[in-house]
Amino acid sequence: MGRYTGPACRLCRREGQKLFLKGARCYMAKCAIEQGQSAPGQHGARRGRKMSEYGQQLRQKQCLRRQFGMQELQFRRFFKEALRRKGVTGEILLQLLETRLDNLVYRLGFCASRRSARQFVLHGHILVNGKVSTIPSMILKAGDTLEVRDRPRSRDAATRCLEAATPQQTPTWVSLDRKSFKAELQSIPTREQIAPVVDEQAIVELYSR
Ligand code: SF4
Repeated sequence: MGRYTGPACRLCRREGQKLFLKGARCYMAKCAIEQGQSAPGQHGARRGRKMSEYGQQLRQKQCLRRQFGMQELQFRRFFKEALRRKGVTGEILLQLLETRLDNLVYRLGFCASRRSARQFVLHGHILVNGKVSTIPSMILKAGDTLEVRDRPRSRDAATRCLEAATPQQTPTWVSLDRKSFKAELQSIPTREQIAPVVDEQAIVELYSR
């Protein structure tokens, strides 16, 4: 199955909350959620429908999956990996997602959205531990370094995004040197340090059915 190429705002409208899929536009009054647009589809505007427990769990999962722009199969692969590791499965799932290479490129402000960060990585603009990496789903470990490649077209694109005034902040668990375009993953984030506001336990319950 291919990746979703439809309108990004439609996904936010479906979830009824901002998923921050479009960079600067997400912070403007033009945002579909800011404008109070209803869910897509013929019955999208119907309100007050009671959702089943399954429905609620499904929405939490879709919300998280769509924030990271992942397809179901890949998301399930991440869940299986979280299940395999020792610890609280929901928290580990969030940690795996947060330490994906494309997410870090977005969080550091080198790109305006996760979608563009994915493309930035695929086009070979990023070095991980000194080597070019073109795998957006690569998971980084504490101590790994990440750097925008030292060539004008890579650094110019990153500079434009770093200078654009989006309120997105560099996470506290990553150190960033803006002058050298280098960052280091200092530690794996704890649940409190992770931004997605989802009920990860609902996702664990959904996949355990
Ligand atoms: Fe979602 Fe951004 Fe579109 Fe707003 S502008 S609906 S946050 S993708």
